[in-house]
Amino acid sequence: MADLTMDTLVSLCKRRGFIFPSSEIYGGLASAWDYGPMGVELKKRIQEFWWRGMTQLHDNIVGLDAAIMMHPRVWEASGHVENFTDPLIDCKKCKQRFRTDAVPEENLKAHKCPECGGELTDARKFNLMFTTHMGPVEDAGGLIYLRPETAQGIYVNFKNVLQTGRVKVPFGIAQVGKAFRNEITTKNYIFRTCEFEQMEMQFFVHPSEDMKWFEHWKEKRFQYYLDLGVRKAKLRFHQHGPDELAHYAKLAFDIQYEFPFGWKELEGIHNRTDYDLKRHTEFSGKDLSYLDEQSKERYIPYIIETSAGLTRTVLVVLADAYDEEEVEGEKRVVLHFHPRIAPTTVGVFPLVKKDGLAELARKLDDELCEDFRTFYDEGGAIGRRYRRQDEVGTPFCVTVDYQSKEDQTVTVRFRDSMEQVRVKMADVPATLRKAIADYRRVGE
Ligand code: ATP
Repeated sequence: MADLTMDTLVSLCKRRGFIFPSSEIYGGLASAWDYGPMGVELKKRIQEFWWRGMTQLHDNIVGLDAAIMMHPRVWEASGHVENFTDPLIDCKKCKQRFRTDAVPEENLKAHKCPECGGELTDARKFNLMFTTHMGPVEDAGGLIYLRPETAQGIYVNFKNVLQTGRVKVPFGIAQVGKAFRNEITTKNYIFRTCEFEQMEMQFFVHPSEDMKWFEHWKEKRFQYYLDLGVRKAKLRFHQHGPDELAHYAKLAFDIQYEFPFGWKELEGIHNRTDYDLKRHTEFSGKDLSYLDEQSKERYIPYIIETSAGLTRTVLVVLADAYDEEEVEGEKRVVLHFHPRIAPTTVGVFPLVKKDGLAELARKLDDELCEDFRTFYDEGGAIGRRYRRQDEVGTPFCVTVDYQSKEDQTVTVRFRDSMEQVRVKMADVPATLRKAIADYRRVGE
């Protein structure tokens, strides 16, 4: 496997319809990206896998879809108005703005810009929340924020869910949605963007059981990435030291991935204590405590948060899947997506268009597309069609040839091994299902 560079990945993603620069025909917008036909499928698959794992497979976790725009007091209660800041430094000469932690130590000491050598200002606090105004008048009364995290939508609905969801502590609320942060960094592709998506599950527990549930979710969330097909050696935990802990957290672990630009956070697992529900009780005047019907104990639950970046996971999955091999003297680029999340599950090809093969392949495609995401392709040499599917990570291809007309069999070709087997056309769905269930990446 060659060492992957971000340039290689960015170019493949553009070429194959995963990710495009936003408003590209106008020159693009820094840090904003659009998900193309392949990218949107990949993102949806990852999200669905998370959602199914959280809600369908847990009878004590329910879903929610809260509005992006919330009452401005929410962000005072949460501490974001006061604390959600990055210390930033400006260059007086070239006018560039940097996150303080991105400026090398020697430049900070000398007050010298790392880009142009100009003089740097002192660090200033800069709130990361985007603001806008609701209503026709742009006055302070109409000021609202675009949510910088999805979690608060869950906390403010705690009582609603409790009263309607037939749930008892311990239970969780899961949500996927957009979040917005006015981030400075525009490097590293979709790793850090101003508009991104999060997959968050907030788990409400008795205060005496916080550590038990913290450990539980920490392990479960690590396993999620393995189940997504991410290589174990590229994942690790990082515990937040006292300097890194957010104002609400008692204990925090990140799951990190080794990106081409180093080990970076992918998901945070936090013990937020009773901070959030207490604050919202205080700021809203509404009682957000919980009554245990059996023990008659009334208390404010602790929250164990699992907060994953969906768009960041897309980058992890792409970077992790990328591989280059040499096959018969030619370079083969292949994305080893787990078949569960591959944008296309099966390519369907007639060997040639004529002699009724295209019709037969179309018929098979019509049947398979009821249960699998298929891509029908009849153009060009068969080897080229396989390579194209390898490059977008399609795990299986089915080819209809002359023999198919005789005995109703087709070849199924496997992306990773390039092995081909002949199976009865009627057995293709079962063959694919088994291959998906048994999938293991080579070497894992
Ligand atoms: P960082 O230290 O990278 O700024 P954070 O600690 O502020 O991240 P959290 O607030 O814990 O991140 O958010 C949870 C998850 O949301 C992160 O692990 C990441 O996957 C994702 N995330 C946060 N900010 C961004 C962003 N600007 N772009 C893309 N994903 C993001």
